[in-house]
Amino acid sequence: MLGLMQNWPLTVDKILDHAANWHGDREIVSRSLEGPIVRQTWAQTQARAKRISNALKGLGIRVGDRVATLAWNTGRHVETWYAIMGMGAVCHTLNPRLFADQLCYIINHAEDRIIFTDVTFLPILAENRARMPTVEHFVVMTDREGMKGVTLPDALCFEDLVDQSAPDFEWGGFDENTASSLCYTSGTTGHPKGVLYSHRSNFLHTLSTLGVDVMGLSGRDTVLPVVPMFHANAWALAFSCAAAGCKLVLPGAKMDGASVHELLESEGVTFSAAVPTVWLGLLQHLRATGGKLSTLKRVVIGGSAVPEAIVRGFRDEFGVDVTHAWGMTEMSPMGTISSPTAKVAAMSADEQLRYKLKQGRPILGVEMKLVDDAGHRLPHDGTTFGRLMVKGPAISSGYFKGDGGQILDEGGFFDTGDVATIEPDGYMQITDRAKDVIKSGGEWISTIEIENIAVGHEKAAVAAVIGAYHPKWDERPLLLVQLKPGAQATLEEFLQFLEGKIAKWWMPDDVVFVDEIPLGGTGKIDKKLIRERMKDYVLPTAKVTATA
Ligand code: ADP
Repeated sequence: MLGLMQNWPLTVDKILDHAANWHGDREIVSRSLEGPIVRQTWAQTQARAKRISNALKGLGIRVGDRVATLAWNTGRHVETWYAIMGMGAVCHTLNPRLFADQLCYIINHAEDRIIFTDVTFLPILAENRARMPTVEHFVVMTDREGMKGVTLPDALCFEDLVDQSAPDFEWGGFDENTASSLCYTSGTTGHPKGVLYSHRSNFLHTLSTLGVDVMGLSGRDTVLPVVPMFHANAWALAFSCAAAGCKLVLPGAKMDGASVHELLESEGVTFSAAVPTVWLGLLQHLRATGGKLSTLKRVVIGGSAVPEAIVRGFRDEFGVDVTHAWGMTEMSPMGTISSPTAKVAAMSADEQLRYKLKQGRPILGVEMKLVDDAGHRLPHDGTTFGRLMVKGPAISSGYFKGDGGQILDEGGFFDTGDVATIEPDGYMQITDRAKDVIKSGGEWISTIEIENIAVGHEKAAVAAVIGAYHPKWDERPLLLVQLKPGAQATLEEFLQFLEGKIAKWWMPDDVVFVDEIPLGGTGKIDKKLIRERMKDYVLPTAKVTATA
């Protein structure tokens, strides 16, 4: 027997309609690419997005066509998202931090017909125009003034399209399983692969993220998503802030400590989200300038593991609560968040910190299990490491155009590529990416754990651990440290700092000081590049063993 409830397709245009109807005068404030701070309301955003939908229709875009954005977080980018998705086309977010070859590959693979671009990216598009044969137009996200000097052929002016297009557009009217958006994972092995979200998956994921124990956003919050809209959906904030009626503050191209701080203070931001490197930059800026955080209450940190020094820094120096989250592009992206259970909330502040550093508990709509290499379930006892597998309505069932083949196990679980432990009450901790974990004498060593302790050393700016070949143990940990500008340190200082904080057999066999630890397109330590750079390196312990 079926229920007798209304058929109300879960399409994301309804989220913006809700914001425009019931939170119509709440603002979206952007640091524009032109420079000034620009203000608009949710109602204006909806009205302008409908005009853009009409413009897209006029340019021949139909349901299912791919329309790309190459843009920073701004009000225009939010309008473009809803304009594309609302009419049933697929919004393809391009990551401008990728190399030109990868960008061209992705654009061709997706068969993008139009690219909406910020002025920042005109040079790279102009240079590679001939390599994007499916692209018919570029829409430059600026006004008439900003178009002066734009030489890219087929370029249209965003504000002209808004002005010249009709205001009314009927959004929705398609199945909720229709594709809404496309985002390629950075593809540490092989080509990037396309994650294709649906309206339904985005809608359900948005509802899950709104939970009090998840993002817990309310209509009273002012939210600054530093996490870019081109990276894993900006952790759904362009949807959840509309759903909750938050004031949204968007940083444009400026994500350095000083610029973020200025917006946090001038707009009265209460909640923000970013990867650890951004928060490190902000903490450094605040300490150097004596700056305060007068309205900020909560920050969510994810994308890579949060070091203890960040949680303590925000809590002890600025009274800001840090919540650690984990997820991935394939999960829309949120999987777990480290909000306390009743049991953890009753613990002392220092005991709670141990849980805060874990990646957290699954949000509603995420099933998790640990398996060994043969696919057998492992216990959730908080100590057994295993491959982390996930299942849910906002998790990929396959990649765009079938790339990567069958990606689910027999039970329908997706392999995250992460190695983790899970406690009986759901607290999950990432030990490593499966490809980074160090296998020493048949046992696993977590590179993340060593890195996070090492980066707490007062002289360290960034720390990375990789496995280096060892004739007896297969691999042993090698610690690379990028020191703070002007700092000098010795190997012994770092080894002493680690002593007692990790198991003896986890101690790095060597410490190498480097000028730069490279970060990849999504702001994470690029271990693949480090391994390439260190390919001729031989551990001192390996030499001894080899000659002994
Ligand atoms: P990529 O960076 O490969 O394009 P994602 O941005 O989707 O892809 O990254 C997902 C991966 O990032 C996860 O599988 C995990 O390895 C890592 N990650 C995300 N959040 C955390 C976290 N809080 N702690 C540790 N690792 C994390």
